Order: sequence, then C-alpha cells, then structure tokens
Amino acid sequence: MSAIVIDGKAAAGRLTQKVAARTAELANAGLIPGLAVVLVGHDPASEIYVASKTKQAREAGLRHFDHRLPAKATTAELIALVRELNEDAAVHGILVQLPLPAGIDAAAVLAAIDPAKDVDGFHAVNAGRLALGLEATVPCTPLGCLILLREVMPDLAGKRALVIGRSNIVGKPMAQLLLQNDCTVTIAHSRTRDLPALCLEAEILVAAIGRPRSIAGEWIREGAVVIDVGINRVADESGKTRVVGDVDFTGALSRARAITPVPGGVGPMTIACLLMNTVDAAVRTRTAPY
Ligand code: NAP
Repeated sequence: MSAIVIDGKAAAGRLTQKVAARTAELANAGLIPGLAVVLVGHDPASEIYVASKTKQAREAGLRHFDHRLPAKATTAELIALVRELNEDAAVHGILVQLPLPAGIDAAAVLAAIDPAKDVDGFHAVNAGRLALGLEATVPCTPLGCLILLREVMPDLAGKRALVIGRSNIVGKPMAQLLLQNDCTVTIAHSRTRDLPALCLEAEILVAAIGRPRSIAGEWIREGAVVIDVGINRVADESGKTRVVGDVDFTGALSRARAITPVPGGVGPMTIACLLMNTVDAAVRTRTAPY
C-alpha cells in the first residue's frame, strides 16, 4: 500500500479561490476586508512569510497594510501601533509576525490586539473560546490541518487522534479542534513516555514538533492519516539546504493511508486560512460579533 499524498497546495488554491469570490461579493456591498501585517526587525524567514502573506492577500482582493518596525523597537511602541490598528475601521485583521526580537514582550503585544481582529487566533479570548467550544477565531495552521484531514477522513467521530506537540499556536488548538470533532485525543510532548506505542495506536497522527524526521515510519499505525506540520531545514548529501517535516515521509508512505508532504502540505493552507479568518472578521463587523 502506498499512501495518498495530500496536496496542500491544491487545497490552499481552492480555499483562496473561495475567499477571493467572497471578497468580490463583499466589495460589491462596499466592504473590503483589510489585513494589517506588522513585522519587527529583519528575520529572513519572517520576511519571506510576510511577503507571501501580503502577495496572496492582494491576489485574493483584500486590502493590506504593511507596518515595518526596526529591531530596536520597544514593546510600548509596538503596543501603540497595535492600538492604532485596533481603532482603524479599514483594518479587520491584525497579524504581528512571530517571533518578535528578544526584548519585546510578545505576550503583552498579542494581548493588546482586539480579539475581534485577532486573525491569528492567538489571543487568550479566542484560545479560551475555542477551549470552551464556543465560536472563535481558530489559529490558521491547525485550522488548515483540520481541513486537509477532513478531505481524506470526512467522519472523525470516535477516531483515536494523537497530537505530538503542545504549543499554543499549533498543538493545543489542534487538540481542541479534534476534540470538538469527537475524536479521542491524546497530546504528546517532550516528556511523554513511549511515544512509538502511542503513535501505533493513532488513527490520526498530527506531528508539530520541529525535529526533522523524528517520527519513524514503523511507528505509524497501518491505515493512519498523518498530518505533518513540521518545517525543518536540513542539509542534504550535497550540502544544499532543504525543508523536511517531523515525520520520516518515505518510511510512512508504505503504512499510512494518507499523508501530507513537506513542503506542499500544511504550509500553504496556513496562509489561505489567514485570508479566510480576515474575511470572516470583516463580515462580523456587519453582522453579530462573538
Ligand atoms: P514549539 O513551540 O517549539 O513546540 C514544539 C512542541 O514539540 C513542544 O510542545 C515540545 O514539547 C514538543 N517536542 C519537542 N521534542 C519532542 C519530542 N522528542 N517528542 C515529543 N514532543 C516533542 O513549535 P511549534 O511552534 O508548535 O511548531 C512545531 C513545528 O511546526 C515546527 O517545525 C514549526 O516550524 C512548524 N510550524 C509550521 C507551520 C506551518 O504553517 N506549516 C506553522 C507553525 C509551525 P514540550 O512542550 O515538552 O517542550
């Protein structure tokens, strides 16, 4: 058996098209969803992500506002900018690109974002609402994972799901989403004992660890669906840098029923979900807020 390779790029393209169609309808009704992206300093990976987000936002018909601050910006300056954006009626979504330079209190900055404009879904209000099973803005990466998972496993009820990683931006919200979809969820982390045994029980395995190919092929349960969130840069035999996931993709192919590749799996879905969250936030300004 060779696993279905889930095409995240194609799925993200379909979602972005839907977002663009919705944006066009809203524009006819006089509402142009606006996304403000704040980048502090010159982290090369962040520069690439931000360029990609603004390009795709523009292509989907959103208005976008770029804000660049020098690496030496203070927490107070950043919070002042966030407050300005909170008050700006043309801005429906605010994204502060992480990681922030050392010395900036990232938690304080994220807490300053109006939860209604928190399109990353990192604010405590949105995290809390998600945990309570209330309507909430869901972090983009786990939301993208859920959409890809549903493409190959429409009925998630009762499935045994293992989420490896417990970060606030991926692992925890992913576990909440799976729980909301009636999975039986286990969360593993760096202190978990006997990870291979847990993996072998999982019908759904989501790896969000940040360690290249650390989930071996033989740990995968036969017929499992594997969602690999990891983005790890490694040098290949020729010394060239390439991106790999947290799962040994080649090893997993012969055991899994379906698997996301890296690159081309979860990554493209994250930006598509960001655009969707921004359009949803814009619509909520005309309908009932949470
Ligand atoms: P993170 O904050 O560093 O969290 C990593 C998690 O993995 C932690 O909970 C950690 O456990 C756990 N872990 C570390 N080593 C482990 C081990 N040997 N066994 C089991 N668990 C272990 O990372 P993150 O922000 O969640 O991101 C995870 C990965 O996803 C990274 O590669 C990141 O680049 C990628 N990512 C991709 C996207 C995308 O769009 N595709 C978006 C976000 C992140 P402890 O809590 O015990 O330390």
